[in-house]
Amino acid sequence: MPKDHKARDTEVSLADFAAERGVKYFMISFTDLLGSQRAKLVPTRAIADMQESGAGFAGFATYLDLTPAHPDMLAVPDASAAIQLPWKPEIAWVPGNCVMEGQDVEQAPRNVLRRLIREAAEEGMHVKTGIEAEFFLLTPEGDALADTLDTAAKPCYDQQAMMRSYEVIREISDYMLELGWGAYQNDHEDANGQWEMNWDFDDVLTIADQHSFFKFMTKTVAEKHGLRATFMPKPVQGLTGNGCHAHISVWDAPGEESKTNIFATDKSTGSQTAELGLSEKGSHFLGGIMKHASALAAITNPTVNSYKRINAPRTTSGATWAPNSVTWTGNNRTHMVRVPGPGRFELRLPDGAVNPYLLQAVIIAAGLSGVRSKADPGKRHDIDMYAEGHKVTGAPKLPLNMLDALREYDKDEELKESMGKEFSAAYLKLKHDEWNDYCTHFTEWERARTLDI
Ligand code: ADP
Ligand code: MG
Ligand code: MG
Ligand code: MG
Ligand code: MG
Repeated sequence: MPKDHKARDTEVSLADFAAERGVKYFMISFTDLLGSQRAKLVPTRAIADMQESGAGFAGFATYLDLTPAHPDMLAVPDASAAIQLPWKPEIAWVPGNCVMEGQDVEQAPRNVLRRLIREAAEEGMHVKTGIEAEFFLLTPEGDALADTLDTAAKPCYDQQAMMRSYEVIREISDYMLELGWGAYQNDHEDANGQWEMNWDFDDVLTIADQHSFFKFMTKTVAEKHGLRATFMPKPVQGLTGNGCHAHISVWDAPGEESKTNIFATDKSTGSQTAELGLSEKGSHFLGGIMKHASALAAITNPTVNSYKRINAPRTTSGATWAPNSVTWTGNNRTHMVRVPGPGRFELRLPDGAVNPYLLQAVIIAAGLSGVRSKADPGKRHDIDMYAEGHKVTGAPKLPLNMLDALREYDKDEELKESMGKEFSAAYLKLKHDEWNDYCTHFTEWERARTLDI
């Protein structure tokens, strides 16, 4: 297969794309507010019309905070982002932009991101990220690890376990290589049954689409092998959870045109960020992330289960690798932000439940706020946060649960506005509904703690 399955030219005709590659069906897909991908499977004979008008959906049937009385919502395919499925080349997946009566549906996650990309571009900033979407391989029921022999106390980089799961990991890696994503490593992660596969960073919209496709592909390949892949933040009590770290830099231009990393500096003195090779703009962007961290957790850690990963007690491997407080440092993985090398920083807060589009959107929203206000990221803490975190004063604790995070988000008028008023209202409504539903759930824990009171 050709290296580039993507039709990068925005003028590309999907009908031509199909004819050249033997595509019979298009999966026109969009992602709702809770992160579900929804799709219509459209035969190629109808794709020319659908490329113009979009595929129709009843918005109320998805999580976009629409009513049954709303007009049809149309997902207009972004032909430049079409990906032919390497494991089923007769199908091409293509992300759509949600439109209603000729207007973008403002709260739709891909539209939120596209708007923020335009805003950053107006200020000469083009954000590029790389993500690390960790996952577990489970039995199809999802209640046990797929590999029953994977029981080591410190299973990270386990070579023998890697060989036992080789056929699944190799298949996904092969597809990323065929797609030309720049796949460069795969490893057994810190929990039994946990994996990470890495590919090259790129423009945020490309990465959000790849992140979505990666989840779709990984789940599908796992199913083919009679397994289940999960990105759930903490699928197994006591084991390290699924993170989705984001490495962030900002460039002078998008795509191949980018020449200069605006976050890089060769000044090695002057500030705690310059010492680590992060420019003044990079420092302000980081300052925005620090300032809005507790609120943006409502996006980066979006589920009830997310709060079993951050602020967690020590896992059986010895460390959770997840943050507890709003702190940053150099090359040290116990903080919310790590600066692993010059010209970028790593946000370690997001987890596997994060919505791929909202992750990138909230990074831009918080970063832009920091750059506009010349925010100071605060003091660098070069300590082991797990052992010495109690010594740090003045660093906020991350939210302890989803409700805490939603309230922080609701209080942050600037972030709410930047993410979009309609989006923020819709998101808060759906997430409060989810929290209220959770609170009606009766647990064994409360029975045990309260029965004999
Ligand atoms: P680690 O496990 O050490 O945090 P990984 O190698 O798993 O790191 O992932 C690093 C990610 O960061 C990759 O997606 C990589 O392409 C990306 N990355 C590297 N340099 C940059 C940069 N300048 N800007 C954005 N992302 C970057
Ligand atoms: Mg019908
Ligand atoms: Mg990694
Ligand atoms: Mg990892
Ligand atoms: Mg990482």
